[in-house]
Amino acid sequence: MFEQLKTRPADSLLALIKAFQADERAGKIDLGVGVYSDAMGRTPVMRAVKAAEQFLLETQDSKKYLGPEGDLQFVRLLQPIIFGKSPAFGERLVGIQTPGGSGALRLGAELVQVANPLAKVLLGTPSWPNHAPIFGSARLAVKEYPFVDLASQQVKIESVVEALSFANPGDVVLLHGCCHNPTGIDFTTEEWRRIAELLVAHKLVPFIDLAYQGLGDGLEQDAAPTRMILEAVDEALIAYSCDKNFGLYRERVGALYVMTRNADDIGKAESNMAALARVNWSMPPDHGAAIVRTILESAEMSAMWRAELEEMCERINGNRAALAAAAPDLAFISRQRGLFSNLSMSRETAAALRATHGIYMADSGRMNLAGMQPSDAGAIVAALRAEGC
Ligand code: PMP
Repeated sequence: MFEQLKTRPADSLLALIKAFQADERAGKIDLGVGVYSDAMGRTPVMRAVKAAEQFLLETQDSKKYLGPEGDLQFVRLLQPIIFGKSPAFGERLVGIQTPGGSGALRLGAELVQVANPLAKVLLGTPSWPNHAPIFGSARLAVKEYPFVDLASQQVKIESVVEALSFANPGDVVLLHGCCHNPTGIDFTTEEWRRIAELLVAHKLVPFIDLAYQGLGDGLEQDAAPTRMILEAVDEALIAYSCDKNFGLYRERVGALYVMTRNADDIGKAESNMAALARVNWSMPPDHGAAIVRTILESAEMSAMWRAELEEMCERINGNRAALAAAAPDLAFISRQRGLFSNLSMSRETAAALRATHGIYMADSGRMNLAGMQPSDAGAIVAALRAEGC
């Protein structure tokens, strides 16, 4: 049977990692992979995570099954961080632990497919390359529309408005809650308000992907658009990842929250989420969620986590400021947020930046701002200039 398979292209970002490792030049700079790096170029285990692991090692006395919902205390303790303390819509929220933000997106997509198989998913492009395949694999139709113009680094708000205005009631709108991947371009408060109005007017269901809370402007600020949207609409899905803001990438820590129209629908949503989890992964992996729960249960560990997250956020924004200061035409980088900015360039230019200058970024021109030091700004700008960017 397997001879029927067609070989799929290798993931280009993984190839980039290998190429960077093989490069022996001293001044090479890795703006490729999408993980946070510190000033030493490492992606460290956070101090609060180490403390929580130590605590778990000493106190955890059983590893018996928890069930398809995973660690519900983890799910509950995250809620005030994401949605604020006792929001009006809090009564209509239900959550389940998932394997990372990816698992939350997949589970949410399947829930939509079960509830309304004809729903289309509106996806602004460019987006995280896994969005469209995840929704497609859940047998939902994906309708892409241009969300941003990379040449001018501006949101194409009229294109967004048009896409939402022509959607059918019940269609789903994928929105990046903060720190847009790959562009770093988030909507302004005014644009978010307009989107909320359109969601309400056309009876659309927002599916908010919140994978970088705390890495843009801070935990509260980064959650503000999500909270505003949830106050406005009847129903919503939120895919949350702890993999970046707790540095837990390979532990696969996430949650899917669903906001229903009324308290009556909560049980329906909850039982379907559990049933879908059961056939996908049966139960989510425990360790990462247990770490997050342990941190959030402890005032001391929570304070450590928040302080380190703030350091990470400041480092990224410091790198953004350094690049903007080195080249006035890159000033937009300091207005963008999160790990990424996406320069407008050809694949050939991205290849030349690697080959000639040892500067590694994705072929799409996406760069990870956490991969540089402020002192690299001059070299990066010089290389961009040499390649005509
Ligand atoms: N959404 C976005 C926008 C992402 O960038 C990522 C990870 N790169 C995810 C979701 C998935 O995160 P996780 O690793 O937790 O599955």
